[in-house]
Parts: sequence; structure tokens; C-alpha cells
Amino acid sequence: MSKLLMIYSGGTIGMMRNTDGHLVPFDFKYLLDHIPELKLLPHEIETVSVSRPIDSSDVSFDNWKELAGIILDHYYDYEGFVILHGTDTMAYTASALSFMLENLSKPVVLTGSQLPIGDLRTDAKENIITSLEIAGKQAGGKPVVPEVSIYFEYKLLRGNRTTKISSEHFNAFDSPNYPPLAEAGVEIYFNRDLILPHRKDIFKIFTDLSGAFAVMKIYPGIQESYFSILDSEQIKGVILETYGSGNAPRLKWLQNKIKHAIDKGVHIVSITQCMHGKIHPGRYETGRHLYELGVIPGSDLTLEASVAKMAYLLGKNLSHKAFRTAFMQSLRGELTE
Ligand code: ASP
Repeated sequence: MSKLLMIYSGGTIGMMRNTDGHLVPFDFKYLLDHIPELKLLPHEIETVSVSRPIDSSDVSFDNWKELAGIILDHYYDYEGFVILHGTDTMAYTASALSFMLENLSKPVVLTGSQLPIGDLRTDAKENIITSLEIAGKQAGGKPVVPEVSIYFEYKLLRGNRTTKISSEHFNAFDSPNYPPLAEAGVEIYFNRDLILPHRKDIFKIFTDLSGAFAVMKIYPGIQESYFSILDSEQIKGVILETYGSGNAPRLKWLQNKIKHAIDKGVHIVSITQCMHGKIHPGRYETGRHLYELGVIPGSDLTLEASVAKMAYLLGKNLSHKAFRTAFMQSLRGELTE
């Protein structure tokens, strides 16, 4: 029997309709009243709510800091944690926590639902109950999934590999470049070889995230003025969403802008606009020019993981070389090296 902490942060799962018919976060007790099945689980489950449950589209670094703080405060009291979260930004929060929770060796499973817990056809119950089972699963006295994951619609995915793929279907998430860590059918099958190993060092959290960066997308017809954001002294990093295996038009002004920014210390990372596959820096002439200027290839990072990793590494104030090395390395299983 494991002792588990369920943390409520908001999202559709615990929402009710207000007088105008819009869904708004409701209190945690309402949610708990709708899942009497929790008492039937072979685990001791305690619950806590963040100070102000939100629609996850309102999420900020402060919300991540609060969640990381709750886990730090209770780390040694529980064998595992389940965070109830809105689906809109769940993949961002899971990615951020994967970096912020340093030397994590306990399960942190995020889940939510597409329909509120009070709806007859809700997907909330199965998601919550199986997430708790996964968070409580032990083998040889150790948790089976000692990392940040997302459980949704019968699949357990690595948090920092996950992206929201549907605003309509119950099957709302996928991790396009990494297989599921577990699949739930009649039994829960864990793909043990894919799960991160236990960490031995002392657990701690890092919360000094930096928002001094921009996400920019390459598209046909792109104008120089779009890149004027690089002139701002506030910007220390850029995530560039490039075509295919990491390509962009060979425009002189674009090369000049990128060179100038990199020379003044801005970290520019490229990720692909494709759902599957990764950056191959030298595959095309239209890619090579970027990497020769010093653009950092982001392999198969999702947008969500690259945002989280950028905020985390910028917050660490690393030298350009150390930043580049860390960004290209798999720190928490977030990319393929
Ligand atoms: N807007 C909601 C949220 O992310 C959507 C959801 O929970 O599914 O909080």
C-alpha cells in the first residue's frame, strides 16, 4: 500500500458552468465528492489544492513554482504524486516540472479530462484512478515510474515528450517521438526499458525560470520586421520553429539577424515544425547555413519541452558553450541525442 498525494491545480476536470454557461474552476471538494471510488483503491490517498485553481490557459511560472514547492514540502511523506491539471497546457507544465524537479526518484503523474467530473460521460474517473494506480506502483520497494509523466486515455507518456493533439477527442495527447511508458488495458503494461532510472542524488527543486525568450516560426513570405524582436536587449533566447529537418530560406537579412543575435550572446535553438522526426543540421543546404552561424539543433524536442528547457537553462545563467552543450543533451529523456 503506497501513500499518495493528489494535488488539484484546476482544469476542466473540476469545472462547473457559471451562470453565463462558461466552464470555470470549482472547488476541490466538489471534485472529490464525485469520485467515491477513491476509497476503494489499495492506497492511502491524501489531497491538497493549490491556492487558486486555474484554467490551465492562465498558467504562469508562478503556478509551476507552487506545484514544485508542494512536491518539495511533501517529498518524503509520499511514495508518489498525481497532479490534476487542465489539458491545454498540461504538456508545458509536465515538461517544466521534469526540469525543475531535480534528481526526482518518485512518480509525478499529471492527468485531467476533456469533460468535467460531474458530466455523465466524463473521462475524468478512469484518468484519475489509473494515474493513482500508476503513481502507487512499486517493484522491489521502488516506484516503477520515477519521473514526470502524463496519463490520459489509457496511455502513460513521458511528460516532456508529450503534446496535446486534440481539443475534441478523449485521446488528447501523444508523444510522437517516444513510445508510451505504459498502456492500460485489463492490466497496466509498463515498458520498463523506456522509463528513466532511479536517481540517487538528493531531491531538490529549481525555480528561477527565465522568460527572456521568444518562440518564432519560419513561414513562406516571412518579413525582416518579424525578426525585429531580436534587437531587444530583453531577449536572451529564441526557439526557431524551422521546416522539416531544420531548414529555413537562405535570405541574407535572416542570416545577418541571426549572426548578429548570436554574436551578442542570444541562444538560438531550432526545432522542427513536423510532428515526427528531428533536426538534421547538415542534411540540406537550406539548413546548413543556420548551423554554421551557430544555431543550436534541438533534435526532436517538442515545442513544449523546448520552452521549458529554455526557461530552465536561461535561469541557470550558463556560458554560451555550457548552454549549447546542455540544450543538445538529454537531461531528463526529453530528446534523442
Ligand atoms: N481550458 C481547460 C484547461 O486547460 C481545458 C481542459 O482542462 O481540458 O484548464
